[in-house]
Amino acid sequence: MSFELPALGYAYDALEPNFDARTMEIHHTKHHQGYINNLNNAIKGTDLEGKSIEDILKNLDMNNLAVRNNAGGHWNHAMFWKIIHPENKGRLSGPLAEAINAAFGSKEAFMEKFAAAAMSRFGSGWAWVSASKDGKVDICSTPNQDNPLMPGSSSCGTPIMGLDVWEHAYYLNYQNRRADYIAAFWNVLNWNVVEANYEAIIK
Ligand code: MN
Repeated sequence: MSFELPALGYAYDALEPNFDARTMEIHHTKHHQGYINNLNNAIKGTDLEGKSIEDILKNLDMNNLAVRNNAGGHWNHAMFWKIIHPENKGRLSGPLAEAINAAFGSKEAFMEKFAAAAMSRFGSGWAWVSASKDGKVDICSTPNQDNPLMPGSSSCGTPIMGLDVWEHAYYLNYQNRRADYIAAFWNVLNWNVVEANYEAIIK
């Protein structure tokens, strides 16, 4: 069975004006679909065919660049579409709020540190918030389509939210203004999903 493009669950223009419709459509139907097509081709006829995306990532041969880049590209984007929502659902609360306050002091300090990680990623990559089983949260970033699930790529734990800082994610609307794109991200973040991701790790 091959991997397939997941539906967004909202319209391409639903996140306007924060994320524009043209970017969302190209990002989903061209970039994400491209990673999926390349991943399916890369694993066809190998012992990776039929495995789950998490299985592939956790046991990844980091020298296998076709699988590394495209399995990462598929998982990262699938997570990204889920943690954004037109209604900016929920607010930081419960166990995740406690963990963020313990690690960073306040929600504002957390947002600043996350934005700094996203800003300082040179070239293309992702900024992540991750959690470990003991409930601690951390912020890190990875290059290209790497993510913290991959062997040795970071000691960041399991991602509960991630922000795509490739230029393809923002250039049409924001050109070189990555900081404005990061600020807009908070307006469409779905805290309910991020909290559910966190609670699934610590349970
Ligand atoms: Mn992307």
